[in-house]
Amino acid sequence: MSDQTGRGKSGMGDNAIEIRGLRKTYGGAKGQPAKEALKGIDLDIPQGSVFGLLGPNGAGKSTLINILAGLVTKTAGHVTIWGFDQDVNPRQSRASIGVMPQELNLDPFFSPRGALEVQAGLYGVPKAQRKSDEILALIGLEDKADAYARTLSGGMRRRLLLGKALVHHPHILVLDEPTAGVDIELRQMLWANVRKLNEQGMTIILTTHYLEEAEEMCDQIAIINQGEVVARDSTANLLGRIDAKAMVIHPETAPTTLPQAPGIVVEQRADGALVLNYHAHETSAEQVLEAVRNAGIRIRDVKTEEADLQDVFLELTRS
Ligand code: ADP
Ligand code: MG
Repeated sequence: MSDQTGRGKSGMGDNAIEIRGLRKTYGGAKGQPAKEALKGIDLDIPQGSVFGLLGPNGAGKSTLINILAGLVTKTAGHVTIWGFDQDVNPRQSRASIGVMPQELNLDPFFSPRGALEVQAGLYGVPKAQRKSDEILALIGLEDKADAYARTLSGGMRRRLLLGKALVHHPHILVLDEPTAGVDIELRQMLWANVRKLNEQGMTIILTTHYLEEAEEMCDQIAIINQGEVVARDSTANLLGRIDAKAMVIHPETAPTTLPQAPGIVVEQRADGALVLNYHAHETSAEQVLEAVRNAGIRIRDVKTEEADLQDVFLELTRS
């Protein structure tokens, strides 16, 4: 049973995905060491969002994605995709989601058009409903439509993986570290595509270990660390909770005295820059600048330093 949007019947409201008590343990058989990659994940991913799954290497992001895609078998828990319980309606839940994997796994003997057609066939998309030309245009591979995959550059292969994830017109698109190791041009193209698909109503989930990328692309973020969700919020709220800030100032001339004010810790770098560390809840950026001016320092250049993911974890897990 499904409603007009083709969703399964679960009473799940406006969530594209619901995950409950999800666990995954790798290995453990025949004396192999067991690795608990997911330790009981609960997560709702709203329909229509660009949702970021953020975490360091080894956090469990790909494991989670691959369970959603039906590529990895979960150890315990429930996953509902577009209203379809994965265990009850595996076919419909798989049809609702398209995944661009982290690894390049293309058959070198297929052309881009061939690869899209084969993929569409695997998903049972009837010939009349296939949109290979449209997808080739979207990923900018029209010129290479009939070239062998092995003659494609790394960037073209990544784009083809995106195309393959789209052949069955999924409601949800998942991108696993789409920009790790890609050049700026490809990254911009990927993001432009993602924005366009999201505007057309597609729910997007992407994993990344770059905070900056999540900040730029996602309206909601879950942070996962060692198999557990440690934070889940709108991007704005989450970044607002990250309290440790650093302002980097390049003075016009070498300072004779360093800025001093309560709550500000100053370091001087070898290149002459001053790094002013402060906490946003007790000190404002204006107060930091005032301390700099009070020390008689003329500012040539100022920027705020990006908090890195490690800082974020420290902030979020600090009790
Ligand atoms: P991420 O994508 O966040 O980097 P992964 O989901 O790939 O994390 O990995 C999570 C943990 O599970 C890591 O410790 C990793 O070594 C382990 N792991 C992943 N895949 C396997 C596997 N097939 N067999 C055993 N351990 C695995
Ligand atoms: Mg991964």
